[in-house]
Amino acid sequence: MLCLSDSIRHDDPSVQQLLNTIEKAQTLTQLILAVWPLARVLARHIVEYVLAERAQRPIAWPPCPTCGTSLRSKGFAQRQLTSLVGPIRWRRRVGRCPHGCDIPQVAPLDEALGVQPHQRTSGELQCLGCALAVFVPFATAARLLGWYCGGVVSPRAVWCWVQAAGYQAMEHLQEELAAVAQGHEPTPEPLTAAQAALPLALGADGVMVPFRPDAGAPRGKIRWREIKVGVLARLRPHRTRTGTVVTQLHQRRVVAVLGGIEALQARLWLEALRQGIRSAPQVVWLSDGARGLWRLFDARFVDYARGILDFYHAVQQLWKGAAAWLDGRTTQARRWWGWARHRLRHGHPDGVLADLADALAVEGLPDTARETLRTVYASLDRHRAHID
Ligand SMILES: [Zn+2]
Repeated sequence: MLCLSDSIRHDDPSVQQLLNTIEKAQTLTQLILAVWPLARVLARHIVEYVLAERAQRPIAWPPCPTCGTSLRSKGFAQRQLTSLVGPIRWRRRVGRCPHGCDIPQVAPLDEALGVQPHQRTSGELQCLGCALAVFVPFATAARLLGWYCGGVVSPRAVWCWVQAAGYQAMEHLQEELAAVAQGHEPTPEPLTAAQAALPLALGADGVMVPFRPDAGAPRGKIRWREIKVGVLARLRPHRTRTGTVVTQLHQRRVVAVLGGIEALQARLWLEALRQGIRSAPQVVWLSDGARGLWRLFDARFVDYARGILDFYHAVQQLWKGAAAWLDGRTTQARRWWGWARHRLRHGHPDGVLADLADALAVEGLPDTARETLRTVYASLDRHRAHID
């Protein structure tokens, strides 16, 4: 490895300038901000040194894809990439067919480095750009990235990286879904013995997400569209400082799709296999009253998981019933709701359903109230097995 102080002492005026700025820095913040560009220069020196060394190594030239003759070196040519530490330059051997076949020039070192022929930014910079773009607009992501790498990054570039990463991820997912459909199950994620002993919880719901009306343009009125989301997690008991035991979500995984229930089902099943649904000691499916989601449960998870109707959703239904039957402003309604909630929480829906049935038999009940009660009764009755 090259000696860093040698490389600093090079008669490079820009490096001298950086060293002067460090000398003049007074606060710690100024000092670190002054050292940062120098750190980038040093990092570039190291990377370029390593690349120059590798470029000297002998090459086994591949055959020409057209005629099969071994390619031959045409000498060294320069290559440049923008990286997280700024522009990186290196010279490496490029080869062509000795018979003059019309093929693009080949650079074996670039291939070994995983650099594509027309790539202008290196992978780690694109990765950081994509990660930032998850949370902030493209223009902001580009600005933050520019601060970090000391160069200019265009919002358009970040957009293109995100597109490329997205297509790559989608292709990868499609391959995995196709494999599962043909009976090739994915390798489960490695878990410690303690993690593997925890119950696995699955749940799904539809949520509204803002979309741009035109892809690639930040203008126009937001279009809200429903995406289907599934969550998978291990349930881990945790003792708080006051000694209360609460349940924490552990090893949380999320799947989401802009599409129908079937699209969600395939993705959720794939992730459930990865999260060890076949070996978990206990599996719980948690969902609100939406029929599509319970059909998904029946179609795919019923053999592995215990279905549980989301308590808060059930309680919300109960309140509708109480308000229709006993008038929502009365203490009687609140008292009954409190009692019924407690019964449901402890897995005893029978008394609650019996009360609702009695209420339906009350004479003189307004039609709208009767209709509400009937709906509430039907929804709880449908999920009798899921109130446990
Ligand atoms: Zn050839």
